[in-house]
Amino acid sequence: MLNAKPSRLHCAGCDETYSLPQNGAIKLYKELRCPLDEFELVLWTSGHRGKSYPLCPYCFSNPNFRDMKKGCMGCNECTHPSCQHSLNSLGIAQCVECEAGVLVLDPTSGPKWKMACNKCNITVHFFEHAHRVQVAQESCEACEASLVAVDFNKTRSTLPDGETQHSGCVFWDPVFQDLVELKHATMRHPSMSRGGGAWRGGRGRGRGRREKKPKDKMAALAAYFV
Ligand SMILES: [Zn+2]
Ligand SMILES: [Zn+2]
Ligand SMILES: [Zn+2]
Ligand SMILES: [Zn+2]
Repeated sequence: MLNAKPSRLHCAGCDETYSLPQNGAIKLYKELRCPLDEFELVLWTSGHRGKSYPLCPYCFSNPNFRDMKKGCMGCNECTHPSCQHSLNSLGIAQCVECEAGVLVLDPTSGPKWKMACNKCNITVHFFEHAHRVQVAQESCEACEASLVAVDFNKTRSTLPDGETQHSGCVFWDPVFQDLVELKHATMRHPSMSRGGGAWRGGRGRGRGRREKKPKDKMAALAAYFV
């Protein structure tokens, strides 16, 4: 299904061509699928040291949500309430640098884990050598950032007392202090006055509806926006 031309994807089955973001490489993404349209996700990456994020080729060409802008989003900007690849699931905190962005966990970045802003070029490295890094449902009481749960292998743990698991706020948790590279001069803890932002609202809405499993895409959309 992958075309040689990196910026487009052609499906022979339905004879459709889907556009993809420019200036990067596209790989298949663990054969995971978008819950809205069952399309196989691809991973866009700007290069070895750069940013990468999964995206759904169908949603990229046919934005479904009100706040989707055509042709410029991946799953890291998708507000799908329950998709495990979306901003709602992987977003950690409001960007420390720009107004509108959200720092989103790059689930493919391990063992050199990082979170990257979905709007600007800020990348924050954290929890190097961790076995697993996950974004928890709970948020920090002080700053509304999503808590992050980290697992280390016993031999590689950089947690105090050789602990292998810890979860906490990447900005406030004293245990995480040395494991998060907030080295940019202007980086600071996001202030509470900036509030949770629209993506938080989306997450809240999603929670209550998760049990319902709408069977088709239109039903899914109708269920999310009442
Ligand atoms: Zn999709
Ligand atoms: Zn998605
Ligand atoms: Zn940003
Ligand atoms: Zn916090």
